[in-house]
Amino acid sequence: MSSENLPGNENNLAGDILIVDDTPVNLRLLSNMLLGHGYNVRQAINGKMALMAVGVVPPDLILLDIMMPDLNGYEVCKALKADPKTASIPVIFLSALNEVFDKVKAFEVGGVDYIPKPFQFEEVLVRVKNHLALRDAHLQICQLNEDLEQRVYQRTQQLETVNIELRKLALHDSLTGLPNRVLLQERLNELLQPERCASTPKFGVLFLDCDRFRVVNNSLSHLAGDELLVALARRLEQCLRPGDTLARWGGDEFVILMPDIAKIQDAIAVVHNIFKSLDSPFTIRRREIFLNASIGIVIGDETYQYPEDLVRDADTAMYRAKALGKGQYYIFEPKMHQVMVQRLQLETDLQHAIAQNLIVPFYQPIVSLDTGKIIGFEALARWIDPQKGFISPGMFIPLAEETGIINLIGRAILKQACEDLATLQRQGIADETLNVSVNLSTLQFAQPDLVHQIDDILAQTQLSPHCLKLEITESAIMENSESASLMLQQFRDRAIQLSIDDFGTGYSSLSYLHSFPVDSLKIDRSFVDGLDGTPQSSGLIPAILSIAREMKMSAIAEGIETPQQLEQLRRLNCAYGQGYYFAKPLPAEAAAELLASQPRW
Ligand code: C2E
Ligand code: MG
Ligand code: MG
Repeated sequence: MSSENLPGNENNLAGDILIVDDTPVNLRLLSNMLLGHGYNVRQAINGKMALMAVGVVPPDLILLDIMMPDLNGYEVCKALKADPKTASIPVIFLSALNEVFDKVKAFEVGGVDYIPKPFQFEEVLVRVKNHLALRDAHLQICQLNEDLEQRVYQRTQQLETVNIELRKLALHDSLTGLPNRVLLQERLNELLQPERCASTPKFGVLFLDCDRFRVVNNSLSHLAGDELLVALARRLEQCLRPGDTLARWGGDEFVILMPDIAKIQDAIAVVHNIFKSLDSPFTIRRREIFLNASIGIVIGDETYQYPEDLVRDADTAMYRAKALGKGQYYIFEPKMHQVMVQRLQLETDLQHAIAQNLIVPFYQPIVSLDTGKIIGFEALARWIDPQKGFISPGMFIPLAEETGIINLIGRAILKQACEDLATLQRQGIADETLNVSVNLSTLQFAQPDLVHQIDDILAQTQLSPHCLKLEITESAIMENSESASLMLQQFRDRAIQLSIDDFGTGYSSLSYLHSFPVDSLKIDRSFVDGLDGTPQSSGLIPAILSIAREMKMSAIAEGIETPQQLEQLRRLNCAYGQGYYFAKPLPAEAAAELLASQPRW
């Protein structure tokens, strides 16, 4: 209520006064006096009329006689005070009664003042003026209070909006807009409440990690990688059931929470939806990108107490899915947790092993099947632990690849292998035609400074680049296809040789292979294994050999274990071979002795 529309204030500045008195003389005298002083005056000759007049337009002040027939002044005043619309109008009682009792009563029923009759005009005027001023002050305070309340209300609203916004920011991922870890954990916590567990006992947690995302990120830009993540988030959302939560866990990892599932198939159905949705490529900056994901599933129930345990187990299952190959899912089994703990231990041990130089190359000879002489060695990493003894690469290379430690191992093996061969050359045991093959993992191959690292090592060890051969798998090339071509060309420019390892086991893309400067193909052991002297046991080997010839590459058969296998490979015109039949991987000194003895097979 603003001051312009205060009741009775429209037409006169002094105030609108209602005089209630059953004595016409009194009414007239008072009216004249107040009119003469600029007040607007209305008159009522009894209580009923007074209430009616107040109901039509509330006055600013009432001068109220006490002794009247029917409704007396006290009753009129009570009625006014009982109605919120009129309660604040100041009432000044007028009466000839002069006892203390009546004065007290007048204040009790809500009067603000009391003027005894016969009255002095000056006194009436002063009291009227004072009470009007008091009333104005009261109304102003009310108005200020109201404004203040309004402001407080608005501020509260603003604060609430800001709070909602802040909470949203704190609980959502800024890139994808999805719930973040914190919100996911809150939701998981709710699900783990005993009351909730009792009504819907089972729920699913899916941990999704993109395959090859790092490669995409490295070969595009990080901004394009971000765009891809956003596009992926939108696609994943399409695969959920109503009520499921998709959260970004971090990097290229997402977690899906399925609050109530009746059976594991419900979770698997969502996984299939996801895989299906990833069948078509994403278009990022006019480039088509295929993305795959590995998914771990855990079924949560009352046996779980903490949200982080659920996510941990789903993550563990996801790792298992990754180990199965790309684009797979795996359902968590409790025994996997134990395996994870062992893995963690292995990881720590591996870090120590590298620091203490316990990982060293062993050397397996590669033999010319034509001359029967050693033409080179493959360096194979061995972890020789003082307590546990010999740990095979099958145990630690995959882990090292997952954790990125492979880069350190790879560099150490490369350096040691170059150093060992350079030493053999200085000792006159090896000549310039003998080479050493070193395995490069996918991750190592993705390092932008790999060529630089190799240059450094060759310079430090003084080994000629043509004595070094790098073994990489087809998948390493495919996963780094953007950078591969340039990288391989840089090797070629330095006369470093190149072999495709485990040929025939990965996805062979002959058209790609054709365009890369590769020197040899290593025929995977699985093809050699089956050779028993019969033509049909040759399997795909003749085809691989003819591909190699066609592409002007030499072929090296891996895993030759028997003289029959050797014989058959010789008949098939395979140029080189490697395997236990010639020698197992040997420590450096034993390999040097073997070479010095100039064996011929
Ligand atoms: P690979 O590069 O294909 O190496 C050949 C594997 O076959 C070696 O296993 C070797 O010991 C084994 N082998 C050779 N001849 C025979 C045979 O006649 N019969 C049988 N059954 N096996 C034979 P190893 O040393 O256990 O290495 C396994 C894999 O680990 C290697 O496969 C390679 O992919 C990886 N690896 C080993 N050392 C390194 C390394 O320094 N860096 C990287 N990135 N990977 C490595
Ligand atoms: Mg190899
Ligand atoms: Mg191999």
